[in-house]
Amino acid sequence: MSSNTGQQPAVTVLGLGPMGRALAGAFLDAGLRTTVWNRTPGRDQELVVRGAVGARSAEEAVAASPLTVVCVVDYDAADAILRPGAVTGALKGRTLVNLSADTPARARESAAWAAGHGIDYLDGAIMTPAPTIGTPDAVFLHSGPQDLYHRHRPVLDALGGTHTHLGEDPGRAAAYDIALLDIFWTAMAGYAHALALAKAEGVTARELAPFAQGIGAILPPLFEEFAEDVDSGGFSGAINPLTSAASSMAHIIHTSEAHGIDAGVMRATEGLARRAIGLGHGGDGFIRVAELLGRSAGK
Ligand code: NDP
Repeated sequence: MSSNTGQQPAVTVLGLGPMGRALAGAFLDAGLRTTVWNRTPGRDQELVVRGAVGARSAEEAVAASPLTVVCVVDYDAADAILRPGAVTGALKGRTLVNLSADTPARARESAAWAAGHGIDYLDGAIMTPAPTIGTPDAVFLHSGPQDLYHRHRPVLDALGGTHTHLGEDPGRAAAYDIALLDIFWTAMAGYAHALALAKAEGVTARELAPFAQGIGAILPPLFEEFAEDVDSGGFSGAINPLTSAASSMAHIIHTSEAHGIDAGVMRATEGLARRAIGLGHGGDGFIRVAELLGRSAGK
């Protein structure tokens, strides 16, 4: 950034949880004039020591910069900050980038609200943890008007990592976020269950770790392979048909329940596999379940 001109771009960050602090810290490191505000006072102290301006109100914070980034727990929290009249009024004619996580529907509703109040609006999602911000590992997804995104891209680039504009539909970044976190949390549920099961069998988390990594490494190439299959309507079970997968799932359920461990997550998975088999798809691969689930959504 052009810190040597005395005319550094200015940016405001609303919300100073771990992620908001990381965003503001990256803007400061890039030499931007950074104004910060948080509902609970005092969370700005370290940032102010590093050169941020600590605003006394959200309205004052928004008025300090052409671009405001809001990053709080969800859109209820963002609305609580942004929708009081004084703050909405201060945002008029400026740009708001909402990097809080919520649903695609809330993102679209926020974009409509912003449009109704003369606020330029981009929605976004952050796909990596706070310590990655300002490093090449950070991953940001954006959606909303393309020209607006390109206009603010130089400031967003100060956050490091990769930035991808996914389209004009303001809900698109949240749609990717929801789908990707679906992968993450269901995988984490499987991992947590596996740790409990392994412990009951006398295997420590440390002992399991290298093999857990091996199983995890199988997944990334499958994402590529299944993307081809699913988009072209193919669900090949040549390597591992659903009948075989369901049998393997049943072993996990029996072992869990023999140890008195709740097998709910695996029961749900096995239930989906059995439903697909019942509908005559036993020779297909497990990913047939995606098509089955989509049927009830009419997609
Ligand atoms: P949290 O999700 O815990 O959010 C904390 C922030 O929300 C604080 O600034 C808090 O203010 C504010 N807040 C909560 N309720 C309200 C309210 N009613 N009115 C005003 N402000 C409110 O912390 P993070 O910073 O970690 O996350 C922010 C967003 O970033 C979330 O949507 C999260 O999903 C996303 N994210 C976070 C990642 C991470 O590694 N932390 C990774 C990727 C995405 P106060 O201090 O006053 O309570």
